[in-house]
Amino acid sequence: MAQTARIVIPATNREVTIPSGLFINNQFVPSADSQELIHTINPATEEPLCSVVAGSAKDIDIAVAAARQAFKTTWGKNVTGFERSRLLNKLADLMERDAQALAEVESLNNGKPVRIARDFDIGDSIQCLRYYAGWADKILGQTIEVDNKTKLAFTRHDPIGVCGQIIPWNYPINMWAWKVAPALACGCTIVMKPSELTPLTALMLSQLIVEAGFPPGVVNTVPSLGSVGGAALASHKDVDKVAFTGSTITGRKIMEAAAKSNLKKVSLELGGKSPHLVFESADLDQAANWAALGILYNTGQDCTAGSRLYVQNSIYDKFVSLLVEKSKQLVVGDGFDEKTAGGPLVSKTQYDKVMGYIESGKSQGAKAILGGEKRPGKGYFVDPTIFTDITQSMKIVQEEIFGPVLSVGRFSTEEEAITLANDTTYGLGAGLHSNDANQCMRVSSMLEAGTVWINQYNLLNNNVPFGGKKQSGIGRELGSYALDEYTSVKAVHWNFGEKLD
Ligand code: NAD
Repeated sequence: MAQTARIVIPATNREVTIPSGLFINNQFVPSADSQELIHTINPATEEPLCSVVAGSAKDIDIAVAAARQAFKTTWGKNVTGFERSRLLNKLADLMERDAQALAEVESLNNGKPVRIARDFDIGDSIQCLRYYAGWADKILGQTIEVDNKTKLAFTRHDPIGVCGQIIPWNYPINMWAWKVAPALACGCTIVMKPSELTPLTALMLSQLIVEAGFPPGVVNTVPSLGSVGGAALASHKDVDKVAFTGSTITGRKIMEAAAKSNLKKVSLELGGKSPHLVFESADLDQAANWAALGILYNTGQDCTAGSRLYVQNSIYDKFVSLLVEKSKQLVVGDGFDEKTAGGPLVSKTQYDKVMGYIESGKSQGAKAILGGEKRPGKGYFVDPTIFTDITQSMKIVQEEIFGPVLSVGRFSTEEEAITLANDTTYGLGAGLHSNDANQCMRVSSMLEAGTVWINQYNLLNNNVPFGGKKQSGIGRELGSYALDEYTSVKAVHWNFGEKLD
């Protein structure tokens, strides 16, 4: 198979060439032992897009060996922080140059509107690369007084080594940047496995790795099925760390594989069922904007989607009608129209899953006050759907749906709101709206979540840590906290005076 694929951008009829081989040692290559392909589709039309090589377990071995060789020779301890910083900044410049082309391919492969991909996903990713470029020459240890006259201890924050990075389909470019940027800043080398649903932009970004001037083997990209390439990375004996974003069920498998192989370090960013609380003192118009954004952004395919909304009884009716109005205004449709805010779900599987939850909500007695019906025509589009009359035991209230489906419940007291919010096995995000500052402090401290938003929702910053508690994950991405995930602390004890008798 040729190592490139072509896609025609519908809006302009322009052809884009995408490398379709495995990216190992700065070259696009065929699989060592497999003829398997990954066939991508456009979820807005259900038409095929193009095919790329599917890596095998043997290809993962070859990529890991390349990453190990680079770690020992050109990267790891053989490159200064200044140089890592320079290369990361160069990569950010190239991503900026190619933002439109990357956004168009992301939109065709994932379904999200071009404008959102370009201005948010890619804009944020460029900033993420630059943020970690800033850290690359500031990876600091400590000096620790042990005995002033004879001894000193200090710590070095060594790069952890070869990192396997397994990313999902909901933010393909963003998740790539969140993982690649801190790993490279710390001096690690990478074998990246993008989702089999959305491998295209990771391959385009691999081209930029070469153009930026990274040495061969520092970043390798192996599109592959999760059960093949992902599993091989998680159980590989020469991978020092695996970083994963995706479902809780896969996160468990990764942790198990890591434990059974070489006890590699694991960081997991998993699912959520995030609560969003609206108290009676809140600015209701603003809270309704954030609540709609909280569930509808990225068509609800968001690990922090505010999918459980609880509203104080005294404002319930007024707030719910505002929310329905706001949710109706969201333009769902053609991703190449700059006005579109929401696209289709990523795949038929995801569409069937979300429609199944909508049916289950209805059959368990919840009331769909918006959406809830199948849309005619092609594409995996699901209209914004709002359920009221819910109970805590319903599947739509307990399970992650990963679609534009909101469950709305009520509460009367602050204690009740907190109890309802924490009634989940997840702990990723949570939001609250209130104009009572003391209440904001009380409630935010009681919410069991890695991120709490007050009077806003779903906004992240590259310099603020992100991650989950409970079954939403382990470890933190973003901010200075992510550096801990890619470094290993070595304590050095130095004796410059004590003699043994
Ligand atoms: P998934 O967890 O199966 O896939 C995520 C990544 O893990 C992909 O790259 C996949 O190839 C890989 N993977 C799958 N099985 C693996 C294995 N055994 N070992 C190693 N890697 C493996 O998620 P999905 O099937 O694409 O989506 C299912 C559900 O997961 C969604 O409906 C949603 O609820 C959740 N999800 C959450 C996030 C998130 O950001 N937290 C992202 C995507 C999906």
